[in-house]
Amino acid sequence: LTVSELVDLSYRRIAEVDGKINAFLKLDEERARQTARSLDEQIGTSAPRGLLFGLPAGVKDNIVTEGLTTTCASKFLSNYDPIYDATVVKKLRDAQAVTVGKLNMDEFAMGGSGENSAVSPTRNPWNLEHVPGGSSSGSAAAVAAGEVYFSLGSDTGGSIRQPASYCGIVGMKPTYGLVSRFGLVAFASSLDQIGPLTKNVEDCAYVLQSIVGHDPLDSTSAKVDIPDYLSALTGDVKGLRIALPKEYMGAGIDPEVKARVQEAIAVLEGLGAVVEEVSLPHSEYAVATYYLLASSEASSNLARFDGVRYGVRTDNASNLLDVYLNSRSEGFGPEVKRRIMLGTYALSSGYYDAYYLKAQKVRTLIKKDFDDVFANYDVVLGPTAPTPAFKLGEQVGDPLTMYLNDILTIPVNLAGIPAISVPCGFAGGLPVGLQIIGKALDESAVLRVAHAFE
Ligand code: GLN
Repeated sequence: LTVSELVDLSYRRIAEVDGKINAFLKLDEERARQTARSLDEQIGTSAPRGLLFGLPAGVKDNIVTEGLTTTCASKFLSNYDPIYDATVVKKLRDAQAVTVGKLNMDEFAMGGSGENSAVSPTRNPWNLEHVPGGSSSGSAAAVAAGEVYFSLGSDTGGSIRQPASYCGIVGMKPTYGLVSRFGLVAFASSLDQIGPLTKNVEDCAYVLQSIVGHDPLDSTSAKVDIPDYLSALTGDVKGLRIALPKEYMGAGIDPEVKARVQEAIAVLEGLGAVVEEVSLPHSEYAVATYYLLASSEASSNLARFDGVRYGVRTDNASNLLDVYLNSRSEGFGPEVKRRIMLGTYALSSGYYDAYYLKAQKVRTLIKKDFDDVFANYDVVLGPTAPTPAFKLGEQVGDPLTMYLNDILTIPVNLAGIPAISVPCGFAGGLPVGLQIIGKALDESAVLRVAHAFE
């Protein structure tokens, strides 16, 4: 099989199914086919092969790609053509993957269903009536539907793991700082992290290996030695200590989802792992803390979209203030506006101490809960999401219910630690995801357990 043939298969599959699924916002066919031809010239030679040689990939549309519109699924950026590549995009190229196009998402990564895309919602390949999850909706659906071999998404409060769970694939949020955020359009800078969505754990390890590493262009990038993630995939979890937080299996979690997680635990125990119940006492504050902090950071990050420097400018302005006001009113969708207003309110003088500062303190307590558990355990385990994928339209009018879908993924972002979602069966005909959470920079333990279970 040549790379050109692989890339051709990818585009044929996209042509066949994407009209229904809506995973892609933009294809880059000419460039991808050209890249494929040049990689084909390498076949049969002794030139060293990249780790992802010839694999067709999709990239979430909040990751900038030179000469390929990067819209964040927002009207505001519908005409934004970046003049540079994100570090992860360069790294995919260095690993010799082929980027076939840009993937749909919730606008500016705000959402958990894909329905906040200003273009059109993505649908779940397992059942087109259901959402694929979000915000990396296209990234998950494209892999699940076999349109690409893997994709990149971003995860601020669950946006890789939750859609991976809903679409029955693997998705990983790495430790904060492990993957460069240079070229990721910022939502909440202290939480955002790019990561892989793949069909299985081995592929996840390959993609992770290819995108990690220190980047001087990202001031929060970690300067650490990178382990060989593939060597963690031994299948051996004997004696490994696994913590099951009672808060992750309590009220609000669908009984069928709980049952799948219990079965997963039995499998891991059968492999010799030790599973014990623990408590993460501050879990109940995670959602409130996250929505304060993420919205605050978003209100600051999104201030750059003023109709002057980026994106679409209003036609309807006779002075500068109108340019700002009308460009933002016309360009942003309702959820983005909601976050900006919440965040601006929380940061305003007089409220800062009561909201933002308080939330930062609770964030520290949530991180400490994990530190305490990790003093005695190798990984923490639970469901990725409280329910399987819900129906399109079911939660759009109800932002609070939508926010609760992230109750199990958000604590991980607040603590800055790594976690993966791996398929663990079905409930009502839809996939269920098992979440495995690790210590900071211990992606290897997370991958080891996920791989052994899978
Ligand atoms: N669903 C969460 C939100 O709407 C998480 C989003 C994300 O991780 N980007 O903020």
